[in-house]
Parts: sequence; C-alpha cells; structure tokens
Amino acid sequence: MKATKAEFKEKSACAEKYSPFPEFITCPKCREEIELWTDEEETVCFFCGYKVFKNERLTN
Ligand SMILES: [Zn+2]
Repeated sequence: MKATKAEFKEKSACAEKYSPFPEFITCPKCREEIELWTDEEETVCFFCGYKVFKNERLTN
C-alpha cells in the first residue's frame, strides 16, 4: 500500500527546485558583480581574476 506515484511526483518536484541557476554575487576583491551558479562552490571573478568561494560572498 505504498503511494508510489505520489513519491515520484515529489521527487521530480524536488529535482526541479534544486536545478542550478546563476546568482549574482559581489567579488570581495574588486566589488564587481559576478555570476555564480548555485551548483558551483567557487568561480573566478571575470574582472580581477580573484577566486571567489560561495561561502565568501558578501551579502549586502
Ligand atoms: Zn573581482
């Protein structure tokens, strides 16, 4: 008596929710706005070449 269909539905909705999308973050070095995809832990600043980690981003 398992609600298999409902489970599948929930899973696909979840996957959609967590599909990556670009976020704008501020480079801590040059303060320019750069893109960081939500599935990436780090990116290189397009402007100054600084390696920006997701947990290093400035939130203001
Ligand atoms: Zn930069």
